[in-house]
Amino acid sequence: MYDIIIIGAGPAGLTAAIYAGRQGNKTLILEKNIAGGKGLEVPLMENYPGYEKIEGQKLIQKMKKQATKHAQIKELEEVTKIKKTRKEFKVETKKDTYKTKTIILATGTRHRKLKIPGEKKFQGRGVSYCATCDGPLYKNKKVLVIGGGNSALQEAIFLHNIGSKPTIIHRRDQLRAQKYLQDQIKKLKIPIIWNSTLKEIKGNNAVQGAIIENKKTGQTTKIKTDGIFIAIGEEPLNKLAKNLGVKTDKAGYIVTDKQQRTSIERVYAAGDITGGLNQWITACAEGAIAATSAYKDTSEI
Ligand code: NAP
Repeated sequence: MYDIIIIGAGPAGLTAAIYAGRQGNKTLILEKNIAGGKGLEVPLMENYPGYEKIEGQKLIQKMKKQATKHAQIKELEEVTKIKKTRKEFKVETKKDTYKTKTIILATGTRHRKLKIPGEKKFQGRGVSYCATCDGPLYKNKKVLVIGGGNSALQEAIFLHNIGSKPTIIHRRDQLRAQKYLQDQIKKLKIPIIWNSTLKEIKGNNAVQGAIIENKKTGQTTKIKTDGIFIAIGEEPLNKLAKNLGVKTDKAGYIVTDKQQRTSIERVYAAGDITGGLNQWITACAEGAIAATSAYKDTSEI
């Protein structure tokens, strides 16, 4: 029997594990992919205290190494079901079933899709949702980055810096991203096509172009491109939470109190799955609070 099972090994889950283990809790993290979550996709972070600049992958390596000292991490083991009994939870994966007193849901988000013709067909053949993962394939090539938020700008800057030629396409005439990213885009002279959306992605075996529509004039234009990086926001991965009956908000993010408690006793949530600021540091903070609450709530059981 575990004291705490953490589902998801992104920044929130790994931090929760460090806190849980140091409290003396028998702790297991179950991760469906490899540890890191969205953290692995962050090209460069400049707002994590203690590091002026650090790549997401490097920080994940450090956090994973630290978490391994305090908890068992099982990667490539997807949780399929959680069953609650009066005193414990049964956590089922395709490989095993584990018992635990408490659960921390740190399941994160997935990339929102544009849902336009060609997007699915060319995924992995020119359509990508992660510049850090696929960007190096587009050195010296023209790419489009869709979106006007922090992710889109961060991806465009990363792509520019590795020698590819990004153009941002944004549906409005104003960016949503933070000023420091907007300043970098200006400095690097990365072009932006304003008030425009992608209507269709074209190609044969791989992406060759796209049809864009100007929202103000209604005019459509075909442009040539070798790659399309879609960064239009996130959707919560809340299937396990919903099946367990955990309360979510209108957008599907898990509702918690300040102690990261959910609507179900002894189930906590941390990181992007709770919505809000979606920053590395807030994910870590929520992970720390969730583990501490799990410890406090069960230490007398
Ligand atoms: P986001 O902040 O929700 O921005 C999504 C962008 O995509 C917006 O500009 C939005 O346009 C646009 N968009 C949404 N749906 C669209 C559609 N169907 N077609 C065309 N454009 C569409 O998402 P994000 O940039 O992925 O960021 C997610 C969260 O992670 C945010 O909280 C963000 O702050 C955080 N994050 C932070 C950092 C950082 O601190 N450096 C880096 C990455 C992400 P509108 O502007 O018109 O709504």
